[in-house]
Amino acid sequence: MLTGRCRLRLSRPLCVVALLTTAVAPAAALEPPDASRPPVRLAEARCPVTGEPVVAEHHTRLRGRRVYCATAAACDAFQRDPYAYQDGLLKQWEVLRPVRVQLLCPVTGKPVRRDVFLARHWDELYFASDEAREAWRKHPDRYRDGLARAWSFQTTCGTCEALPRADVSVQVASGPVYFCCPGCRAAFEGDRAAFLKDVTREKQANQQAWERAHGPRAPTSKPTP
Ligand SMILES: [Zn+2]
Repeated sequence: MLTGRCRLRLSRPLCVVALLTTAVAPAAALEPPDASRPPVRLAEARCPVTGEPVVAEHHTRLRGRRVYCATAAACDAFQRDPYAYQDGLLKQWEVLRPVRVQLLCPVTGKPVRRDVFLARHWDELYFASDEAREAWRKHPDRYRDGLARAWSFQTTCGTCEALPRADVSVQVASGPVYFCCPGCRAAFEGDRAAFLKDVTREKQANQQAWERAHGPRAPTSKPTP
């Protein structure tokens, strides 16, 4: 059951309205993902259903995000009624909070669709269309540059806790700020300075965490203008 989506309690409101398509702004250039690495704090994550440590092979999804469980049966229980396990889920997502998110398709450079992806061992790689996913399957090496440009250190919407989208953004002096929907973008304009401060803090903290885990970005990386 995926009704009552707003029942997850979050420190900022969670907007789930995602409507209009607008101009695409580039995501920050990052190194290609190292899909062979597990999430940094996976050993600390607990199953939302049983409360036990998670087992990497057992995972499901909610709202375009991976959810780890302790057993296959726990994953099934979670899928039947995810909102019965919201407290455990939010704890797990806090422990496994990503330090970057993929916003752009590595093949087309367009905003990703969260329902078009390839599951890899430790994450999902998203695409803008089924055709793009097929192109990647056949020749992944052709899209290394696109992959490097696909990620952003802004991991939540500019005004709420939802995942940001590349096709809903505002350009500020430091680059694009992304939102989950046009309503959140409008809210940002209402108190730009305060929201921008939060976004900047989040991006800096995420970049520092990334560099602690993976080393500084290679000098050959060209930031996206
Ligand atoms: Zn939002």
